[in-house]
Amino acid sequence: MTEADTLNALVVTTYRNRMEVRLPDASEVSARVKGRRLRPVCGDEVVIESLQNGRDWLITAISPRRNQLTRPNTRGETEILAANVTLLVAVAADPPKPDWFIVDRYLCAAAFMGIDAAVTYNKVDLANHSDELNSVLEEYRRIGYSALETSAKTGLNLDQLAALLSGETAIVVGQSGVGKSSLINYLVGNAGQRVAAVSAGSGEGKHTTVNSAMLSLPGGGAVIDSPGVRDYAPAIDTPDQVVSGFKEIARLGQDCKFSNCRHLREPQCAVKAAVEAEEISARRYESYKRLYRLTDELAQSRHR
Ligand code: GDP
Ligand code: ZN
Repeated sequence: MTEADTLNALVVTTYRNRMEVRLPDASEVSARVKGRRLRPVCGDEVVIESLQNGRDWLITAISPRRNQLTRPNTRGETEILAANVTLLVAVAADPPKPDWFIVDRYLCAAAFMGIDAAVTYNKVDLANHSDELNSVLEEYRRIGYSALETSAKTGLNLDQLAALLSGETAIVVGQSGVGKSSLINYLVGNAGQRVAAVSAGSGEGKHTTVNSAMLSLPGGGAVIDSPGVRDYAPAIDTPDQVVSGFKEIARLGQDCKFSNCRHLREPQCAVKAAVEAEEISARRYESYKRLYRLTDELAQSRHR
């Protein structure tokens, strides 16, 4: 084996035992993973070695990840869903009844993972707007998030959504039925058919199920999609992550009397004062307290 036989590549599709990787010249080849310890996921930058003069490829190393998307699996282990994501798009709609706590939880996870985030309220064509909707979207914009109103049915504002995703490695998440698949199909366009073609030519036969795929967008950028990613419950392990994940709260927390203020019942808390002055939304503060307590209980039960 000489140096010339190794290449850097990007994992773009994963199957049960093999993956499709993209080479520096943008061509894609099927590769298998060396050993059992190595667990590459979509979005991973990997090193591959050619076997039999490029007739097969072996993934031998994973470059350090800038971030990884994790969720607890049924055995209580941490499962990695994707790597090197740059943007999380949280989708809500009506129906199903919007649950903004779920959106806040995604935004929180994105913030402490160092991933940008945006919100889109889909199915606006149904005009099921509650009065609360405008103020909720405005709240998100005030914090600094892009917040769109879209319709995958009529195409409303989907060009704005495409512009938001341009150049990003995005994931689209939210409750089942909000329209994530519909939005992704629109964004990916004809490229969606490429996935089927790739899996047919992967050497594992037509019926190989794709575990996850990084779908290229016509305007540049990509969406990493899998059933596991779409409605994953983010792993938020410590109350500290909750504090840093609510950006407007983390910002103001610098002004609290106690440097370790949890912004719950402490005196001279700048966050509580800002909630009372309506500078921080009471709804977001409720989400914060709920997520803080949930995470705190989990952390304590782990220590018992
Ligand atoms: P997912 O579970 O989040 O991936 O949601 P889907 O994309 O499967 O959509 C769930 C249902 O909502 C489907 O019947 C879609 O046709 C419908 N749907 C998705 N987006 C819209 C939209 O913008 N407007 C309307 N009226 N229906 C939509
Ligand atoms: Zn405080």
